[in-house]
Amino acid sequence: MSCLFCRIIAGEIPATKVFEDDELIAFNDINPQAPMHVLIVPRQHVATLNDLESGHDSLVGSMIRRAAAIASERGFADSGYRTVFNCNAAAGQTVFHVHLHVLGGRTLTWPPG
Ligand code: 5GP
Ligand code: ZN
Repeated sequence: MSCLFCRIIAGEIPATKVFEDDELIAFNDINPQAPMHVLIVPRQHVATLNDLESGHDSLVGSMIRRAAAIASERGFADSGYRTVFNCNAAAGQTVFHVHLHVLGGRTLTWPPG
């Protein structure tokens, strides 16, 4: 298995998990860009946003709602937080297994770099 996030899901590579259920896992990013930087990852391997199909709609909804729940648990619901899906090289995607970044705990500028 060559996909890094599939290997984390399989327990072959350690990660600091903050949530898991039957369809998702969430863990801290190894190179955090904010005090909270969590990655929400479906257990199913889907490489990029371009590969999502209508059958994934519920899964993606669960990812986004989990992001909101984690941000809320950390106290960022009102102050604000950011969610990001990078898709392919120009956006900076480096791991080709769909994941949602959840960042919070500092003021985040816009536009992003
Ligand atoms: P992307 O650039 O594909 O949108 O995001 C990939 C993220 O995965 C990056 O923020 C990177 O720091 C994180 N990452 C890369 N390798 C590992 C790892 O082995 N463990 C964890 N927890 N995060 C990783
Ligand atoms: Zn994968």
